[in-house]
Amino acid sequence: MSQNVIVSIRNLSVSYDNIEALSDVNLDIYEDDFVGIIGPNGGGKSTLVKAIMGSLNHKGEISFADTLHKGRSLRIGYMPQVSDFDTRFPISILEVALSGLQSKRGFLNRYTQSDKELARKTLDRMGIADLADRPIGEVSGGQLQRALLCRAIISEPKLLILDEPTNFVDNRFEFEFYRIVKELSDHMAIVMVSHDLGTISSLVKSIICVNQTVHRHNSNILTAEQLENYNCPIQILSHGNIPHTVLAHHDGDGCPSHHLHHHDE
Ligand code: ADP
Ligand code: MG
Repeated sequence: MSQNVIVSIRNLSVSYDNIEALSDVNLDIYEDDFVGIIGPNGGGKSTLVKAIMGSLNHKGEISFADTLHKGRSLRIGYMPQVSDFDTRFPISILEVALSGLQSKRGFLNRYTQSDKELARKTLDRMGIADLADRPIGEVSGGQLQRALLCRAIISEPKLLILDEPTNFVDNRFEFEFYRIVKELSDHMAIVMVSHDLGTISSLVKSIICVNQTVHRHNSNILTAEQLENYNCPIQILSHGNIPHTVLAHHDGDGCPSHHLHHHDE
């Protein structure tokens, strides 16, 4: 793990009305991170990533390394939970991807031909180039999630944050989706929220447990005991179509042989 911290979170607390969603969080994200965020429903996973994105009132400090700053914006790509995305907005799939070109925002700016070519290329990479002109209200949840990934990566961020990115993606594309995310992880730090430890473990290098408090675990394998210590009760799901190479090469250095993975080979 690199020692270069790109996001530093100190004494972060976030409350909604009278509910404290996050309490006194201290956490660092590194430039070569590939971390999974897990935790129970309502545990504060989305709150944590929204706080990083600067869209919530909070106590405490969140600071970013110089390498993440680009003019007045941050080189962070963010894919929200699809349920947080308003699909009544009358824009096309191509426009969703284009809207990730942050510096072009504002109605006086027009997208150039090369912006549009880049957006089409990105859609093509995610297998939805043929949907470019479709209004977002007329595509499936999974197709929208692919478009939202395009929007998140189109400006080549240094940090990519994904909030439950595959909830609506069909099984066939889910494998492809994770393959792309893994490829992206060679070029940028990735923080991915999932409620599914099985999937996360096979991909990521570290795990962050979030249940009002936050614990960082610098390995992709967690024991039941560790989950308990982290106050992180989660549901274990099974996934048969995800590669488990990371687990296959794990030599059990101090980790009990009972891993929390249920998958069919
Ligand atoms: P997760 O993403 O882990 O499911 P969230 O971060 O969405 O959890 O929510 C954490 C807690 O904050 C939950 O109790 C949720 O009900 C509450 N919460 C989230 N968003 C809001 C909001 N906009 N207004 C009030 N409470 C909220
Ligand atoms: Mg959430």
